[in-house]
Amino acid sequence: MKKENVDVLVIGAGPSGSVSAAYLNKHGINVKVVEKTKFPRFQVGESLIPRCMDNFEEAGLLDCLMEQGYEKKYGARFIKDGVHGCFDFSKKYGEGWDWTWQVPRDHFDKTLTDEIIRQGVSVDFETEVTNVEFNGTDSFTTVKHKDGSESQIEAKFIIDSSGFGRVIARQLGLEASPKIAKHGSIFTQVKDINRPEGTEGTLITFEIIETEVWFWYIPFSNGNTSIGFVGPMDWINKFEGNKTEVLEQMMKTSPYYYDQFKDVPYLFEPYKVENISKNVTKLFGDGFVLTGNSAEFLDPVFSSGVSFATETGLLAAKLAVKQLNNQEVDWQADFVDYIKDGVDVFSTYVKEWYTGNLQKIIFHKNENPVFKEQICAVLAGYVWDKTNPFVKKHNRLIRNVAKLIEMEENMS
Ligand SMILES: Cc1cc2nc3c(=O)[nH]c(=O)nc-3n(C[C@H](O)[C@H](O)[C@H](O)COP(=O)(O)OP(=O)(O)OC[C@H]3O[C@@H](n4cnc5c(N)ncnc54)[C@H](O)[C@@H]3O)c2cc1C
Repeated sequence: MKKENVDVLVIGAGPSGSVSAAYLNKHGINVKVVEKTKFPRFQVGESLIPRCMDNFEEAGLLDCLMEQGYEKKYGARFIKDGVHGCFDFSKKYGEGWDWTWQVPRDHFDKTLTDEIIRQGVSVDFETEVTNVEFNGTDSFTTVKHKDGSESQIEAKFIIDSSGFGRVIARQLGLEASPKIAKHGSIFTQVKDINRPEGTEGTLITFEIIETEVWFWYIPFSNGNTSIGFVGPMDWINKFEGNKTEVLEQMMKTSPYYYDQFKDVPYLFEPYKVENISKNVTKLFGDGFVLTGNSAEFLDPVFSSGVSFATETGLLAAKLAVKQLNNQEVDWQADFVDYIKDGVDVFSTYVKEWYTGNLQKIIFHKNENPVFKEQICAVLAGYVWDKTNPFVKKHNRLIRNVAKLIEMEENMS
């Protein structure tokens, strides 16, 4: 069997793997990426949040993205029973990017991999990791190529960015029960022939169908739009028929968007994802770290997936550089504890979204502008800024503010 030696093997060429590989390569590390599919490939996760811009910039991947003319995302709109709750990232609390993009991920992810290849990273597509064996921190990874042949990659360190492939988590039995209730999703894209002119046609919107059920509208600059529903598995499964028929029936539950899409054919058969939330018992071990979705995924409601994927990918790469340069790395403190801080904030927001408490605040008619700016910073992904009370006291603040609103409503 053919054998190869590298310093770091990155499994998966999504945003997490690309950011890791770019950073490692920039710092003189011999890195190789293996990717199961051939790019461009479809991927869901098209609404970004501003925090990921910092990560792409630090990895040296922002310039290539700037050239693509993706639709700019300046905020997000939530709609429930005809009431609109709009967030403008330029009016958020604290520092950070005021905008980001909404992107067709097939094009976006290929742009990233084209760029890392241009920068000198070796990327093998149609190459699937089938087995990993560890000997201390050294690892021996078996990969299967498109023609069915196998080869082995010996690495001093592995960054597993395999998304829902969850290569190492599956192999080492690290999968844990999810933190969020069982939600599923069904989604596709359309050629948006009835798209309204102006801002209305470019605004990412989340329409609340029931407290736990929502519809997404993500328009792209190429004229296509991503549409999809998220809800408890019970709700998803009550619709009968094939996936196209199911999505057509679900569309009838959307008061705001039904007319825009009722006669528009889907560009491809909808995808269905069951039990979206994923979790693991540990994020690192001797010779490996898990990043992006291969580590943990909460819920799509606040579009945090790509931001966390790039946050973890970048941090893992930074720590791997230190380790390979014989500096001491405390993976628990420097990786797990840091990531956990941010994940905990988002977990609260996701949970309080589905309890309805956060929706009470967002759709409250007398909105508090200070609270709104602080919540906006969280929705932009700045979940490590402890000067923001809605970050620092995330556990209590949403619940308490929702309770006050409830009391106010009961008195009026
Ligand atoms: C319904 C739904 C809606 C979502 N909406 C959003 C959103 O609006 N915004 C957002 O930011 N996020 C969203 N997400 C999450 C988003 O899709 C992910 O967080 C993001 O793609 C994670 O990036 P990643 O690099 O970790 O993984 P991925 O992008 O999944 O990349 C992993 C790569 O690893 C490869 N791979 C897998 N197994 C192997 C193997 N054995 N060998 C080699 N390669 C392998 C895969 O082919 C893949 O290309 C959504 C998720 C779901 C389920």
